Amino acid sequence: MADATSTASKHFLSDKVSRFTESVIREMTRQAMLYGAVNLAQGFPDFPAPAEIKQAAQQAVAADINQYAITWGAKNLRNAIARQMKAWQGIEVDPEKEVTVCCGSTEAMISTLLAVCNAGDEVVIFEPFYENYGPDAVLSGAKPKFVKLHPPAGDHDEWTFDEKELRRAFHRHTKAIILNTPNNPTGKVFTRSELELIRDLCLEFDVLAITDEIYEHIIYDGTEHISMASLDGMRDRTVTINGMSKTYSVTGWRVGWAVAPEKITNAIRKVHDFLTVGAPAPLQEAGAAALSLPSGYYAKLAEGYRVRRDHLIPALSTAGFRCFRPRGAYYVMTDISAFGFKDDVAFAEYLVQEIGVACVPGSSFYGDPRDGAKQVRFAFCKKPDTLDEAAQRLTRLRQV
Ligand code: GLN
Repeated sequence: MADATSTASKHFLSDKVSRFTESVIREMTRQAMLYGAVNLAQGFPDFPAPAEIKQAAQQAVAADINQYAITWGAKNLRNAIARQMKAWQGIEVDPEKEVTVCCGSTEAMISTLLAVCNAGDEVVIFEPFYENYGPDAVLSGAKPKFVKLHPPAGDHDEWTFDEKELRRAFHRHTKAIILNTPNNPTGKVFTRSELELIRDLCLEFDVLAITDEIYEHIIYDGTEHISMASLDGMRDRTVTINGMSKTYSVTGWRVGWAVAPEKITNAIRKVHDFLTVGAPAPLQEAGAAALSLPSGYYAKLAEGYRVRRDHLIPALSTAGFRCFRPRGAYYVMTDISAFGFKDDVAFAEYLVQEIGVACVPGSSFYGDPRDGAKQVRFAFCKKPDTLDEAAQRLTRLRQV
């Protein structure tokens, strides 16, 4: 019999899988655990979820809602999603035909891309971008076309994009644009006039908008979140993705959704059904309860994160980071030039191993790692004690 190793001519792995790496965000959490570091890398709260929704989940399990929900989502949750989209954004949604509940917004995004992309289609993505969109594009056969968000500089304190560069990114092979607002990692909240500009390009080039609005309720400084689907002309060409993770501090529940016109929803539902069958049934029932919380809940959520933002930024600034103040979401991107490290990865390794604080290297958010070599991201969705501990450890950092 031939030696097993000598006959192994195939490497067995797909070409696709060689074109992306494991998530650096998730890897940094493992490193934080390994080195006993304070984890300001991965964006999940280290404080409890609201008691009401935990109770709703417990009740659902006790009531034996323990078998598959309808593949595209429990009726109660779909109804609540439609009701809230009307209340928050004035968008009419048919819960029977236009909502797909998925295993987190992560699955909603990949199911959407798999449902709409053909090989060779291009997808416009603002960068820095949430790292999942890169592998999502590869897995769905699409080619990402990155458009830069430029960090605040000089007298403007917002991340901005160049209108001409955005226009150049659109052409006849463009299938979709992925728009994440409020934005991870920059904290940018796209304004109405920016959204209108994107809308006009979508209409001119017949392009679909896929919006990730998972940080919808986490906004500061009087900023307003506007859903792309609420703009004239966009209702029929927008897939709106959202979920429970960030709004209700339950990132481990894996309940998210995609709202789209019926035809696109049918395609998303097919992909979703064969990928995962459905999101956890009892947690979907708890989701319906969560989406029925009084409106004061959301104001409190945002205010709690504003306090945390204003707690972490001064600590980072004192330690030598240049901070780009976020208007939404719960991350702060920083410039690390003052520390004189070779690059962001070397710096993040030093920080987690020697200082005891985990962050995410900036390169994880760019197509070309060199573009993020002077940046790292911190998450501030943590208890005040956690932020204090991080601040304390950061005082040991020396600037060059
Ligand atoms: N969105 C979070 C982040 O950017 C975590 C996402 C995840 O790990 N699934 O850190």
